[in-house]
Amino acid sequence: MSFFASVEMAPGDPILGLTEAYLADPRPNKVNLGVGIYTDEQGRVPVLKAVQQVEQALARDTQPRGYLPIDGLPAYNKLSQQLLFGEGSPLLEAGRVATAQTIGGSGALRVAADLIKQVAGDKARIAISNPSWGNHHVVFRTAGFQLQDYRYYDDTTHGLDFAGMLEDLGKLEPGTVVLLHACCHNPTGVDLEPAQWAQVVELVKERGLLPFVDMAYQGFDQGIDADATAVRMFAESGIEAFVVASSYSKSFSLYGERVGVLSMVGADRDEAARLRSKIKQTIRANYSSPAAHGGQLVAGVLASSELRALWESELGGMRERIHAMRAGLVQKLAAHGHEFGFIQRQAGMFSYSGLSKPQVERLREEFAIYALTTGRICVAALNTQNLGYVADAIAKVVG
Ligand code: PMP
Repeated sequence: MSFFASVEMAPGDPILGLTEAYLADPRPNKVNLGVGIYTDEQGRVPVLKAVQQVEQALARDTQPRGYLPIDGLPAYNKLSQQLLFGEGSPLLEAGRVATAQTIGGSGALRVAADLIKQVAGDKARIAISNPSWGNHHVVFRTAGFQLQDYRYYDDTTHGLDFAGMLEDLGKLEPGTVVLLHACCHNPTGVDLEPAQWAQVVELVKERGLLPFVDMAYQGFDQGIDADATAVRMFAESGIEAFVVASSYSKSFSLYGERVGVLSMVGADRDEAARLRSKIKQTIRANYSSPAAHGGQLVAGVLASSELRALWESELGGMRERIHAMRAGLVQKLAAHGHEFGFIQRQAGMFSYSGLSKPQVERLREEFAIYALTTGRICVAALNTQNLGYVADAIAKVVG
C-alpha cells in the first residue's frame, strides 16, 4: 500500500475554483469579478512602465544568479521601510524596525505568524476582522494560533460597525494579536477614518494588544502616505512593539513575482536586532531565502527618483481608474433606480456589494458574470467596455 494511501483530498480554493469555471465558460461577454487582480481598460494585468525600464536594464546587463541574503536585498528593505514608515521616521532613525523581503505579503504573514507563535507559545491568539481575507485564518491557524473574530462590517449600512469593533477589541485578553487591514479592506472595501484609527491605536495601547497591520494595497485608495495612516499612527503612538506585513503584488502589478515585506518593530535597537535574527532564522527554516528578480525590480524603481515618480503616477492612474469605475457603477445602477452609493464610499479593489448568494448565482448563470457568493466583487476588473453590461445585469438580478 502506498505511503500516501490515507491522504484525503483537500478542498479546492473557492476563488481559484471560480477562475477555472470562468476560463472554461465559452460565453464571449463573460466578466470575472471574482479574483483580486487589477486589470486595465483593456482587461489586461498591466505591466508598469517603471518596472519595464528596470527589467530592460537588468536584461542588458545580465548578472550572475547567486542567492540573495536570507532577509533579501538590503536596498529593497531600506526603501520599503521608507515607504511604510515615511522618510525620516524616528522609528527608523532609532533602528527599531527589523525588515525582511518575503515571498509576497503571504510570506510576511506566515514568517511573522511562526515567529510570534514561538514567543507567545500556548497563549498565541489572534483577533481577525469579521469578515477577512480567507488566508488570514488559514495562515494563523496553521501556525498554531487560536482565532477570534472582531465585529467589523455592518451589512445594514454596508459600512463599518465601529462601535462593535471597539467593543470586541476592548474585551480581548492582553497579549492578543490584532490583525488590522491598513486600507482597502479585503473583502469589504470598508476602511477606518483617521479619527477612528486614532481611537483603535489608543485602545490597543491601553489594552496591551499586539497590533499586526496587513497592508496589501498601499497607494490603491488615496496615495502612498495617506494609505499608510495606520502604520504611521502606530509608529507615533509610543507602542513599543508592532508588526507590518506588506505586499507589492498589487501596487507594482507584480503578482507572480511574490514581492512582500515583513517589518517588526521592537522597543529599541537591541530588541530589533534580536527580532531580525529571529526573522532570519524563521525564513531559513521555511524557504531559505527570497527570490531575486521581483525584489530587484521593486528596488530598482524605488531607488531612482525618476522611476519612482513614474511609478507613483502609474499607481495614481490605477487608483483613479478604480474610483471612476466605482462612480460609474453607482451612477448606472442609479439610472436603473437602484441605490448603491455605498460602493463609492468603499475603497480599493473590492466591494461588498450586498448581492445575495442567489443573485450572485443568477449573475453567473444568466450573464456569465463571476463574483464570490459572499457578494464580494472586484471593482478593479471593471472597465468602460464591461461596466454597462455588469450594471444592467446587476439591476436585473436585484429586480
Ligand atoms: N493581505 C491581504 C489583505 C490580501 O488581500 C493579499 C492578497 N490577496 C495579501 C495579504 C497577500 O498578498 P501576496 O499576493 O503578496 O501574497
